[in-house]
Amino acid sequence: MTYLILVGAPGAGKGTQARLLVQELGLVHISTGDLFRYNLKNKTALGIEARTYMDKGELVPDAVTVAMVRDRLSQPDCEKGAILDGFPRTPVQADALTAMLDEWGVKIDMVPHIYVETGILVERLLKRAITEGRADDNEETIKTRMRIYKEQTQPLLDYYGERGLVVKINGDQSVEDVQKELIAAVKSIF
Ligand code: ADP
Repeated sequence: MTYLILVGAPGAGKGTQARLLVQELGLVHISTGDLFRYNLKNKTALGIEARTYMDKGELVPDAVTVAMVRDRLSQPDCEKGAILDGFPRTPVQADALTAMLDEWGVKIDMVPHIYVETGILVERLLKRAITEGRADDNEETIKTRMRIYKEQTQPLLDYYGERGLVVKINGDQSVEDVQKELIAAVKSIF
């Protein structure tokens, strides 16, 4: 069983790197952002609830998010473990994940932190707004997402850092070079 948690600010490249890592490690990629977007597209009750928060760049309430992740991690395709992308994002979510994994008798193996300077991140997100047209990539919500990341998600790096799990990855390189650094870090624990 291998559990990795990718941490990085919005625009740091977590999704891109997680998708590449999946091919390399054969683990399942669980992106809470993708799960919410899927529900939104299919107009499920969960999607309709999540939408109001996502459109403003705010976090979906912890209870909703945790229940969705628990459900996803309980699926049979997660039996070898998973790469978590965008979860946990708050201390409450981190505690819920720890409790969940304790219950199942498994542990988090590594928390790669993809680090990129704020100025570069904002530039990337504004560019993505034009190329991918994601509803939450506009100047106002980008500001909100960055603030929430600093306030709520960054403290998780201390939480996991104290447990010796955080490995810093330089995210300000080409996609291929970030991937190389990430794979080398992940492989070092096996
Ligand atoms: P980002 O590029 O900001 O990292 P994501 O695709 O991971 O974006 O998430 C998009 C939106 O989905 C977030 O702004 C938030 O509204 C919601 N979301 C994703 N993950 C979580 C989470 N763990 N807790 C609460 N809300 C979340």
